[in-house]
Amino acid sequence: MKSSPAKILVLATGGSIAQTSPTDPTLLGDDLVDAIPELRNMASILVEQIVQISSSNISVEVWLKLASRINNALAEDDIQGVVVTHGTDTLEETAYFLNLVVESEKPVVVVGAMRRPYSLGADGSANLSNAVAIACNPNAKGKGVLVTLNSEIHSARDVTKTTSNLDAFKAPGLGPLGYVRAGKPLFYRMPTRMHTSASKLHFSNSSLPRVAILYSYAGVTPDIFEATTASGYDGVVWAGTGNGNLPKPLRVAAGEAVKQGLVFVRASRVNFVVVERNDEVDDDTLGFVTADSLNPQKARILLMLALTKTTDPAKIQEFFDTH
Ligand code: ASP
Repeated sequence: MKSSPAKILVLATGGSIAQTSPTDPTLLGDDLVDAIPELRNMASILVEQIVQISSSNISVEVWLKLASRINNALAEDDIQGVVVTHGTDTLEETAYFLNLVVESEKPVVVVGAMRRPYSLGADGSANLSNAVAIACNPNAKGKGVLVTLNSEIHSARDVTKTTSNLDAFKAPGLGPLGYVRAGKPLFYRMPTRMHTSASKLHFSNSSLPRVAILYSYAGVTPDIFEATTASGYDGVVWAGTGNGNLPKPLRVAAGEAVKQGLVFVRASRVNFVVVERNDEVDDDTLGFVTADSLNPQKARILLMLALTKTTDPAKIQEFFDTH
């Protein structure tokens, strides 16, 4: 008996993969799918347009909409996986957010393109075809949200956009989980941090606490905190030098802000650093949290979600150490 083809839901959000004009995405999810007739042989494809924007405009509202649609869709028995088409600028952030809030083991694959449709050597169709192949593949189950471009398969936690070249998406210090070769996904390792169904950061709120990222540089002065404290942010991620470092006067200022209720997380502006606690900075005394190997933009996402559960720095540190 012939089994029925996999049903894959494609959620389109815009980005260069859909952008034929210099300014805005123009092609809809249906256009992207229709441009690759082979996709319909791989799976039964349903397409929904979530938004139509360049990904620098992605907001918490869009994330909440995507998360809720994905959780509802994957709860249906006949939907095997979800593919999200997305601009590359904030693709890693959306992927990591979903990695923490999707409640299913079924594959969720986020895909974009470095080149626009119809440009020479456009990569969007190959990337989308690979994304559907991954979403249909039983080996993609239980590996958390995945990202694919340039025939590489990455964990949402580890991947970041590193250049504007075709091979822009890398997992510095860690490497990809696998590759797609001749349309076949091949996996070589597993993510070990909590994600999707095992994540402790599922939530049902309709908004998220506000977290800002502050970027360090030689000569930075404590007044950099003024805007965030005056505007009532709940948390700050420090994109510090080296080991998430900050100059002595800022340690004092941040320690004061922590006493007033701000949660302060030390990440690094270096592209792969495992921030060591209590190294140069006395995190335990000052009540700081360290970001493990998460880059500042991902540390911000984890902190926003952690703040929906607790404001205790020690408990928030546990989330950083395990997710
Ligand atoms: N501007 C684009 C975006 O939406 C860049 C891209 O998709 O590569 O992020």
